[in-house]
Amino acid sequence: EALYRIDGWGDPYFSINAAGHVVVSPKGDRGGSLDLYELVEGLKQRNIHLPFVIRFSDILADRLERLNGCFSQAITRYNYPGSYQGVFPVKCNQHRQLVEDLVHFGQPFQFGLEAGSKPELLIALALLKTPNSLLICNGYKDREYIETAILARRLGKQTIVVLEQLEEVDLVIKAHQQLGVTPVVGVRAKLSAKGEGRWATSTGDGAKFGLTIPEIVHVIERLESVNLLSSLQLLHFHVGSQISSISVIKDAIREASQIYVQLAKSGADMRYLDVGGGLGVDYDGSKTNFYASKNYNMQNYANDIVAEVKEACEQAKVKSPVLVSESGRAIASHQSVLIFDVLGTSEVMTQDTVAAQSSDHLIIRNLWETYQLIQLENYQECYHDAIQFKEEAISLFNFGYLSLSQRAKAEQLYWACCQKILPILQKEEYVPDDLETLRMNMASIYYVNLSVFQSAPDSWAIDQLFPIMPLHRLNEQPTRQGTLADLTCDSDGKFTQFIDLRDVKSLLDLHSLKPGEPYYLGLFLGGAYQEIMGNFHNLFGDTNAVHIALTPKGYHVKQVVKGDTMGDVLSYVEYDREDLVESIRQQTESALEDGTISISESQRLLNSYKESLDRYTYLSVES
Ligand code: PLP
Repeated sequence: EALYRIDGWGDPYFSINAAGHVVVSPKGDRGGSLDLYELVEGLKQRNIHLPFVIRFSDILADRLERLNGCFSQAITRYNYPGSYQGVFPVKCNQHRQLVEDLVHFGQPFQFGLEAGSKPELLIALALLKTPNSLLICNGYKDREYIETAILARRLGKQTIVVLEQLEEVDLVIKAHQQLGVTPVVGVRAKLSAKGEGRWATSTGDGAKFGLTIPEIVHVIERLESVNLLSSLQLLHFHVGSQISSISVIKDAIREASQIYVQLAKSGADMRYLDVGGGLGVDYDGSKTNFYASKNYNMQNYANDIVAEVKEACEQAKVKSPVLVSESGRAIASHQSVLIFDVLGTSEVMTQDTVAAQSSDHLIIRNLWETYQLIQLENYQECYHDAIQFKEEAISLFNFGYLSLSQRAKAEQLYWACCQKILPILQKEEYVPDDLETLRMNMASIYYVNLSVFQSAPDSWAIDQLFPIMPLHRLNEQPTRQGTLADLTCDSDGKFTQFIDLRDVKSLLDLHSLKPGEPYYLGLFLGGAYQEIMGNFHNLFGDTNAVHIALTPKGYHVKQVVKGDTMGDVLSYVEYDREDLVESIRQQTESALEDGTISISESQRLLNSYKESLDRYTYLSVES
């Protein structure tokens, strides 16, 4: 467990059982669990091919309950006179089944949705039917967006148009005048409180979104001039995603609370304070303010928000608002696990060491001697000697003084030295920097059946750390350390950052492959942003996705969403399957005329081509 820190990031959903398999407890500590390895085997038997994403709707329900539970506890604890009504930012994961589940599980909490674009607004309007739940309309808006949002109030939808750009206020006023529907609007403030980490620029003067204080004052004046100031009911801010440090949240909420009370005093009919997203996920399980972690829990988060707003409102004698949060990452990350298999490995040459003979070149005899001398006391010195001798051997070869077979022997002996040093290093507490390169050079490459660009784009784009580990053989000591290389023909298509006991590490502990046996790995906590931001590099398509619900007897496969076929991805780039097949047919006819192919071969090629169009873009591993 310690090796992959699953007890940190996995709690309370993922752990390891006595069989050495990863176990999923979708309802957290409230009972019911599934052996993930067996689940994968069961899905494969149903002809669902790897790689696939498994979505656990019970985890989603649990996340929602936890978030609402934390706010309700904080409200009780601080005797807060208002309430909490969260929304889910659709951008985090727009998949229909997930949004439907969210709306369904959110009903008892009047949980709403947040839209950040016109298509997301269309999703939210159609799916969100929970009475009184909020539909927060963020992002850039045009007339069409604003009119649709405002008109939807006639359907009883609680749409709130959040002004993020100054021009939007005039669009809202115009829409109101033309439609005769009274809008409810909010303002997004650019706080001066500093964000942190990767999304730090989401706030502050240079932020892409939001209004400065002078702009907010202008909005108030503008709304007042057309008798619409009572429509201004919400203040919104967002300090960036994955806030690792609670102090950032405290600073932001302090400033926002003051803006809120001032807005209320200026005549706006203030009712809602929307604290945006930012609630972090502990990807590495360290519970620190490291960027892939967070130094607070959900309850601390809710407590700080509730306490701060209460104090500010009490002092200013302003009615406490309904608190709204737009947590995406914290709700959607845990529910999905990406499962993929290993296709093969590449290891450095570790054949039996060949002793140097007296007839061998001096450089080879030196390497052999170095090899024999290696022990705990002198391994660092021997390592440097081995490097030097190997480099000399290459120079000798380049000047024509060493034969190909002698150079091969020199290189083999060099790797043998490294191989002998590696186990000594692994026992050492502290690895000197120069020997760290040896560890890297000796690392295996595990070729995995996925595309990093499609399934974990943030790992490539912004070095996001995700927990990755084997799903089985966890009661067996891993004997290899390696990196993971994906299927794309792109050297960036790899994972080279993994969670370690101490910090981030560049190699993952892995087991050696057993012939004929699959080796499954899981990437966890990737349920937010990854699925939709994935791209089609090398035309690897969407993976299969399976929705699993826990039942008293085990599990139920609620839905299988088929991933892209080759025909699908080709159509995305404008190829017509009939034209493609016809092109091959014509080429086979010409080859038949030329006599370079037989009829049966041409039929075989044509059929295989046609069938491929209906097949998965990933590799099928025969085991
Ligand atoms: N609200 C807004 C306006 C956002 O831009 C974002 C994402 O950055 C979110 C909510 C969701 O943030 P998170 O996923 O950190 O909860």
